[in-house]
Amino acid sequence: MANPDHTDFDIVIVGGGMVGASMACALLPAIRRYQLKVALVEAFPLPDKDAVLEYQPSYDDRSTALSYGSRCIYESMGVWEQLEPHTTPIKQIHVSDQGRFGSTRLNANEHGIQALGYVIENAWLGRSLLNYLFQMDAISYFCPASVKQITPVGSSVRLVITKKDTPDSSKTDNQSGAKRDTVTAGLVIIADGGRSDLNAQLNIVTEQRDYQQTAIIANVSSEKAHQNVAYERFTADGPVALLPLSDPGRRKQNRSSLVFTVTNDQLDEFLPMSDQQFIEKLQARFGFRLGAFKKIGQRSHFPLTLQRAREQVQPGVVVIGNSAHTLHPIAGQGFNLALRGVCELALCLEEAVNQGKALGSIEVLEKYLHRREQDQDKTIGFTDQTVRLFSNDDPLLGKIRKTGLVALELLPAAKRLFGRHAMGLGNRLPPAH
Ligand SMILES: Cc1cc2nc3c(=O)[nH]c(=O)nc-3n(C[C@H](O)[C@H](O)[C@H](O)COP(=O)(O)OP(=O)(O)OC[C@H]3O[C@@H](n4cnc5c(N)ncnc54)[C@H](O)[C@@H]3O)c2cc1C
Repeated sequence: MANPDHTDFDIVIVGGGMVGASMACALLPAIRRYQLKVALVEAFPLPDKDAVLEYQPSYDDRSTALSYGSRCIYESMGVWEQLEPHTTPIKQIHVSDQGRFGSTRLNANEHGIQALGYVIENAWLGRSLLNYLFQMDAISYFCPASVKQITPVGSSVRLVITKKDTPDSSKTDNQSGAKRDTVTAGLVIIADGGRSDLNAQLNIVTEQRDYQQTAIIANVSSEKAHQNVAYERFTADGPVALLPLSDPGRRKQNRSSLVFTVTNDQLDEFLPMSDQQFIEKLQARFGFRLGAFKKIGQRSHFPLTLQRAREQVQPGVVVIGNSAHTLHPIAGQGFNLALRGVCELALCLEEAVNQGKALGSIEVLEKYLHRREQDQDKTIGFTDQTVRLFSNDDPLLGKIRKTGLVALELLPAAKRLFGRHAMGLGNRLPPAH
């Protein structure tokens, strides 16, 4: 990708993963309306429109359950049309606890909507967002390139970007031989993921809890069709989630995306297993609701932590996505939470331009943070409590879990409330496209 010819931007987004790319999409209306100069920096090559998607950490072989609220956000951005053909609607969520009878079902029709959420493979989500951005042709890309240094300078922020193997970059880094650019921005949006180097450079402290658990993910095929049901099953050894996937053109829809949680002590046992051995373990934990598991695809694993940056805004800087908060995937909330942040930030920035305020002013960024804090506290708290409640084999906790699930089954109002939380409803939408 050719280097942009200017070096002074209104906004630079660092990280073109699921959150950074969504941020760029959300800013498109403001970019057009106010001729903002915006750049995106991404360390991995971004795919060409028709090329095969190369490995990119944000767009790996996981799938994401988008809440109904996230669908509404993408609709108002104008991106949903591109995403929808690659999504599988979740019509029912089935939650159960192994060895106990407590279980509950949440149905889309009880909430008067077509689906409780939508499953999309990360690779498709990434490709669709990037295709949309490329079609709109409104932002500049530094890619593949990494931001190596971030320095606030007066009312703007200076970034040193290194780019490998490109003949057109301006300077060469003496030590590494990589090409180097220096750019400035009124606002830098950091979306560089859970292992953010830039936060550390800005002295942003991240609070962290290591759950001592690892998620093993893979796609699995089952004897029975999934019928658009998502399963969350809690067991003494850790939760198992199965999200329904579509295979266009095939009548029997029996492929699901698996998130299988193990404690770190169990990793040495699970990682070397053959497919057949792993399927046996899965079958023992999940049971036969989907019949026998027939096939399992490539397995990958992710360590599970809770992280939250103590500061998410500084003059000229805002931190979003996993870089601001990384959640356990147990409740499928991490990306949905981040997308609500993206949406609010786009609204705040549009408001700031309308009011003639600098995009990087701390007043503007603190307003954004103020509007996000309650949702972040609630969602992080809900996810963390769910992990603690369901990851422990304490018989007392088992009883509480059972009571909770049964109560949910019996009390329509509680269930509606739980459903609304899981669906991510009740938030504001980004500026219309
Ligand atoms: C097993 C699992 C299942 C999950 N399932 C769900 C789910 O169902 N629903 C849900 O809502 N959430 C889910 N999540 C959470 C979701 O995956 C994350 O919220 C999401 O991936 C965060 O994306 P991100 O763009 O913030 O970070 P990342 O995906 O880490 O992207 C960061 C990007 O920044 C780039 N980068 C890093 N440093 C630099 C730099 N210095 N310069 C330039 N570029 C840089 C990287 O190359 C990368 O592309 C799940 C998570 C896990 C682990």
